[in-house]
Amino acid sequence: MTFELQKLVRGNIKILTPYSSARHEFKGEASVFLDANENSFGSPLAEAFNRYPDPLQWKLKSGISKIKDVPAENIFIGNGSDEVIDLAYRIFCNPGIDNVIICPPTYGMYEVSANINDVETKKVNLTENFQLNVEEILAATDQNTKLLFICSPNNPTGNSMNRNDIERLLNNFDGLVLIDEAYINFSNEKTFIQELTKYKNLIVMQTLSKAWGLASLRLGLAFASLEIIELFNKVKPPYNINKASQQLAVEALQNTEQVDEWVQQIVAQRELLAKELSNFSFVKRIFESDANFLLLKVEDAANLYNYLAANKIIVRNRSKEVFCDNCLRITIGTPDEDQLLLKVLKNYTS
Ligand SMILES: *Cc1c(COP(=O)(O)O)cnc(C)c1O
Repeated sequence: MTFELQKLVRGNIKILTPYSSARHEFKGEASVFLDANENSFGSPLAEAFNRYPDPLQWKLKSGISKIKDVPAENIFIGNGSDEVIDLAYRIFCNPGIDNVIICPPTYGMYEVSANINDVETKKVNLTENFQLNVEEILAATDQNTKLLFICSPNNPTGNSMNRNDIERLLNNFDGLVLIDEAYINFSNEKTFIQELTKYKNLIVMQTLSKAWGLASLRLGLAFASLEIIELFNKVKPPYNINKASQQLAVEALQNTEQVDEWVQQIVAQRELLAKELSNFSFVKRIFESDANFLLLKVEDAANLYNYLAANKIIVRNRSKEVFCDNCLRITIGTPDEDQLLLKVLKNYTS
């Protein structure tokens, strides 16, 4: 394998002079800041939001660095994982020329973002056991294949990909491998963020939206080599993470015990709910989940979806995805919410 990062970078990005913001040009302490055209008088709020935020979010990264045991310099923070995905396309994929590989059924945003960026997606379906088709993936790559998206644990199927398969792809694919670990906290599998020095072509994505309970703050994380992080920093909007999000996330990171406790409860609740759901005759199959949701195959997904919605319970119908016909995806709720779901299901006559 011959991985050369610079060969993957779009020409316009290689020669790009990034925007230089006021907070980038002067980073030190001073008593009077008259360099950014902010409102020097203040903001009409109890707390001051009149100053632009730290463009590189060092305080938040330092907190994440301690929890994840990855140097702050190897972390990028996006306005949700969505921004990380979009930036990967904009940095590496020439519109109308390059392509990426995705492995359906998987998270929809990889393809939507490719379409927005006019990048071709080559689809190599997972196997029937929802595992990676390593040989087919490698066979599908060509000189213009820049990215390979692997979602593990996978959404919507809930399972983790075999580590050996991922490693084979990291070792044999010349492009970048993006492993989306949005649900890693709910899994017993090991994260790949400790492998960054071993694999120069690795980008690991995580998010504060799921286990961390901060979906509305929009904070997506990427872990990668210094060279890759530098490219993300060069192309991102200068102040992509607002001050409120940075501040609240720093505060939330103090509360790891609460998050760990919830993760344990969610995992226990997942096993409980799976057991209860398996008793219903209209539930044909419940897939093994390493995430905070269950995928179930039922007799008539559309009918069941509508029945639940009529009872004010909203789940996700994933029937249109490959291998997922008549499948519903159900997020693990609180014990009370799950009891209500089960009670409503007891009155369902398909
Ligand atoms: C929910 C989810 C995310 C998180 O996206 P954010 O933009 O960070 O909220 C990322 N990847 C997958 C597979 C998801 O299911």
